[in-house]
Amino acid sequence: MAPVQAAEALRAGGLVAFPTETVYGLGADARSDLAVAGIFEAKGRPSDNPLIVHIADRCQLDGLITASSPLADKLMDLFWPGPLTLVLPAKEGALSRLVTAGLPTVAVRMPDHPLALGLIRQADCPIAAPSANRSGRPSPTTAGHVLEDLAGRIDGIVDGGATGVGLESTVVELEGDRLVRILRPGGITAEALQAALPHAVIVTDDQMGEAAAPRSPGMKYAHYAPQGELTLVGGEPSSVATAIQAAVDDSRACGISTGVLAFDERAARYVADLVIGMGSETKLEDAAHSLYAALRQFDAAGIERIWAESPAKAGIGAALLNRMVKASGGRHETV
Ligand code: AMP
Ligand code: MG
Repeated sequence: MAPVQAAEALRAGGLVAFPTETVYGLGADARSDLAVAGIFEAKGRPSDNPLIVHIADRCQLDGLITASSPLADKLMDLFWPGPLTLVLPAKEGALSRLVTAGLPTVAVRMPDHPLALGLIRQADCPIAAPSANRSGRPSPTTAGHVLEDLAGRIDGIVDGGATGVGLESTVVELEGDRLVRILRPGGITAEALQAALPHAVIVTDDQMGEAAAPRSPGMKYAHYAPQGELTLVGGEPSSVATAIQAAVDDSRACGISTGVLAFDERAARYVADLVIGMGSETKLEDAAHSLYAALRQFDAAGIERIWAESPAKAGIGAALLNRMVKASGGRHETV
C-alpha cells in the first residue's frame, strides 16, 4: 500500500502495518477507541497490555503528556528519532483509554524510519502501534511476516523491506533528574544511555527483577515464541556445542525434528534437521537483526525442538538475551 493511501486509511480509523527501524508496527489513530480496539482484536492482544504511541514531531508531545522533564528532554534530544520509548505522565482524555490500559502514563517514541515518519505526518495524528504480529508470536521484521500473521485482519501494509535493528525499542521510565529505569531492554543499550548521560543512574530490568514486569505490563506475557519448544544453552562455547548436539541426538533418536540456532563460529559443527547461523558472536547486532526471522523459519520447517546458543549480555546482547529467554519460556540451561 502506498504511504498516501495508508495515511488515508489511518485517518478513517483503519489498521495499517508499517516498517520502523525496530520491527513492523500495526498502527491506528491513538485517539480513537474504535481504531485502537481493532489493534487488540487483530493481534489477539490482552487488553491490559498498553501500546506505544508513535509521533513524528516533538510538538505532538504537548497534546499527549502533562509534563516533560529536563532528563526526558535530554533523552529525546539524544536518541530521537530512534528505538527509545519514554514512559511519561499522560494528559487525561488526549488518547483512547485503551492505549494506556488505564495507566496514568503513556509510552511514546519517535521512530527512525522515513516511511514511518512520513506516514505519521500525513495521518496527522498520534499513532498507537504495537508490533504487527499475532500476540505471542515473534515480531515481524519483513512485510511477509506481517502477512503470515495478520492477512485479512488489517487494511494494508506499507512495505519497506527488512527492518534494521530487528528487536523492539528500549522502554524507559524516568524519576527526578538522574534516574533512568529500563523496563524493557532494546535497540538503545544501557551502555549507550550511560555514556550519553554520565551523571545518570541507569537501572536495568534485571536489577529490578520482578519489579520490571508490573511496571511494564507487557513484560509478564510469554512473547516472541516459536511453535517448537526452545531451550537456551549458555556456558563455555565448546561445552555448549557438545551439550546441544547430545540433546539433539537424543531427540532425533526418538523421531523428533530438531533445530539449532547457533553463532557462525560453531554453526557448521551441528547436525540437526535445521541449523540456522545468526551471525558472529562478536557482532550481536547481526543476531538481533535475524532472531525473529530465524524463529519463523523453524516454524515454517515444522521443527519441534530447538536449541539456541545463549549470547553474551553486553550491549545489544542484553536485549537479545531477554527476547531469547522469553522465546524459551524460561528454559535456560548453563553447562
Ligand atoms: P509492544 O508494543 O508489543 O512492543 O509492547 C509495548 C511495551 O511497552 C509493552 O511491554 C508495554 O507493557 C510497555 N508499555 C506501554 N505503555 C506503557 C506504560 N504506560 N508504562 C509502562 N510500560 C508501558
Ligand atoms: Mg510486540
